Amino acid sequence: MANNRRTFLKAAGASLVGAGATVPILSALSRARAGGDAPEERPDLRWGMVIDTTKCLRQDGCTACIDACHKAHNVPTITEPKRHEVKWIWKEKYEHSFTEQHHGFTNEGIAQQDVILLCNQCERPPCVRVCPTQATFKRDSDGIVMMDQHRCIGCRYCMAACPYGARSFNWVDPRPHLVKAKTLVDDFPSRTKGVVEKCNFCAERLAKKQAPLCVEACQKTGARALAFGNLYDEYSEVGMLLKRAHTIRRKPSLGTQPHVFYIV
Ligand code: SF4
Repeated sequence: MANNRRTFLKAAGASLVGAGATVPILSALSRARAGGDAPEERPDLRWGMVIDTTKCLRQDGCTACIDACHKAHNVPTITEPKRHEVKWIWKEKYEHSFTEQHHGFTNEGIAQQDVILLCNQCERPPCVRVCPTQATFKRDSDGIVMMDQHRCIGCRYCMAACPYGARSFNWVDPRPHLVKAKTLVDDFPSRTKGVVEKCNFCAERLAKKQAPLCVEACQKTGARALAFGNLYDEYSEVGMLLKRAHTIRRKPSLGTQPHVFYIV
């Protein structure tokens, strides 16, 4: 079994960079852009997030949201080599995060500021379209793009299809890193070598009517830069923020319709 898996991973890894993967991935992206997966009726519930980067910026060097998320979800800290890094939520410079909005005259302070990034839980997720085993899928009920690690065969098509770098591959067994750092928790399953993972909007906490950990951690700092709720509820915190403030999304021209919005 292990051998079969390894053999498949090798073959899949090789084909990932070949034409076999390129065609479905390009097709997924162009279908997203064309609006091929648009829901016919407006759903009642779509979880979404609004990140106020101006509030986040005031908490210089703060990593409360990242620390809380990674600790609770058994995300290992692997810094070397860089490609082995696993992340659910992270920081990146504005100019690299918002390539379509950034231009040569962008305020230098904004261009260089770090922005919190995570899976956008896209309405039209190209990662879902290319997954050959439905290990990643979008829930009709609330729009969360989930990962079932047991069905993941490590082909990494989803990573190639995601235009936001929101997915990480476990090149090595993450557990020894967690044990060494004394951060392994029993409440959430740890992963194995050879599977892809990403943020799930804390689906396990939403089931208990609790907000995502990153949002809770941010509130505890007093910054309250992260808001979460039903995008279709105009009286929810996110609903009101979207009405009140001008927000932007990452790479809007791709048509993936991210459910994470930014106030800049
Ligand atoms: Fe998929 Fe990437 Fe969109 Fe998340 S951000 S739903 S991984 S395409």
